[in-house]
Amino acid sequence: MSSAVRGRYAPSPTGFLHLGNARTALVAWWQARAQGSGFVMRIEDLDSQRSRPEFITANIAELDWLGLDWDEGPDIGGAHAPYLQSERQQAYEQTLEKLREAGQIFDCYLSRKDLREVSSAPHRSMLPYGKRQRSLNERLKAQKLAENKAPSLRFRVDKATVDFYDQLQGKQRFELGDFVLLRADKQWAYQLAVVADDIAMGINEVVRGDDLLQSTAAQILLYEALGAKPPSFVHVPLLLSKSGERLAKRKGSLTLTALKEQGVKPERVVGLLAYSLGLNSELTEMTATEGLEHYSLKSLSSEPFSLNSELVNWLLL
Ligand code: GLU
Repeated sequence: MSSAVRGRYAPSPTGFLHLGNARTALVAWWQARAQGSGFVMRIEDLDSQRSRPEFITANIAELDWLGLDWDEGPDIGGAHAPYLQSERQQAYEQTLEKLREAGQIFDCYLSRKDLREVSSAPHRSMLPYGKRQRSLNERLKAQKLAENKAPSLRFRVDKATVDFYDQLQGKQRFELGDFVLLRADKQWAYQLAVVADDIAMGINEVVRGDDLLQSTAAQILLYEALGAKPPSFVHVPLLLSKSGERLAKRKGSLTLTALKEQGVKPERVVGLLAYSLGLNSELTEMTATEGLEHYSLKSLSSEPFSLNSELVNWLLL
């Protein structure tokens, strides 16, 4: 039975991978391989402004250096190719059609400015979009059409709350507004692409950073509307910098490429990350494969972890 589990790691090639990305990638790989499961590498290069081809090659080299392997991916092909989202437009079109048939999609003509003006809570990460926004959209439609405004496509959320269970963080509940599937500039939204791909690639276990918990709620609604079974989820808490901030690719610090160039061994990186995840009580060097012996979902910490000078010194020693 366990051989039927399929996991994946899905980096966005917008920069070199940092230690936090490596931490999530390792958990995804350990979680799959500890069960003897298949593991897929998919490149999420939908954001044409921020994704760069050189980072696709770099990210693959970084994960290979870390000691991970995969059964299917852009570098080795596989039964579910292509593995670059930028080449999967057809899959997204088909998924959108199914959602349209399910009656869950509508054209939205509201600009960010319209939304800000009508919203009472402008700073929420997913702008609330409900009755007020829908009725403003209806009112402005004729005018926007006359102005030749292209609409975005949104998914209509009918449920007051979305509940799901995360294998690491337990019960989750989110309130969601109607969310975008295809932007007015014809760029596919992450929510649609990731669900279309995970279904098409037979992924039934998703491991990713816990900054995506709210997105998971949106994705569950897409699975339901498509009549597909959602995967099980493990959301890994983030790794924080010494000053307690989220690591970010654009800040360029502690990337795997930089560490490699400084002569740091991947065994140190894996050792530090295993320690940060609560899988090892000491800092010891280990390969990704050796880490499998320490790995269990039950011993994985569900708290964010902050780096400190002592740990970074050990890494760079
Ligand atoms: N591409 C996303 C990222 O790099 C991950 C999305 C996912 O795993 O669903 O953060």
